[in-house]
Amino acid sequence: MSDRFFPDGMPQPLADAISLPFWEAASEHRLVVQRCTACEHTRLPPSPLCPECRSEDADWQEISGRGEVYTHTAVHRPIAGGQELPFVIAVIALEGSGGLRMISNLVGVDPGEVTIGMSVEVVWEDMSADLALPRFRPVPQ
Ligand SMILES: [Zn+2]
Repeated sequence: MSDRFFPDGMPQPLADAISLPFWEAASEHRLVVQRCTACEHTRLPPSPLCPECRSEDADWQEISGRGEVYTHTAVHRPIAGGQELPFVIAVIALEGSGGLRMISNLVGVDPGEVTIGMSVEVVWEDMSADLALPRFRPVPQ
């Protein structure tokens, strides 16, 4: 099991037929984005149609999990019992993703030390045997 950053009572995502490949890759600690095989446009969250060319054909591209902080905020009210406060919600600009951004949490950093443009990398949090969530932490300097 991975390090834990959030309590079990946190709201958890529900997979559906469109997002299942993302969550299956996540359970293997691989970060993937959906890519249109007709025009190569990438998208996240996944969707049944390409917003650029309307194609239904897509595959999954693994990305490095590195990126930088696009924007962030600190949350001072708990969502679940036993939660350490404050915690950081951030939008991460994902390297090698075709310009995609992901909303996640920053861990392993004091909220007051987070800066826009900070280099970060994915760190996986195993919430159960089947569910791993991508969080991000600063890249060690
Ligand atoms: Zn397309």
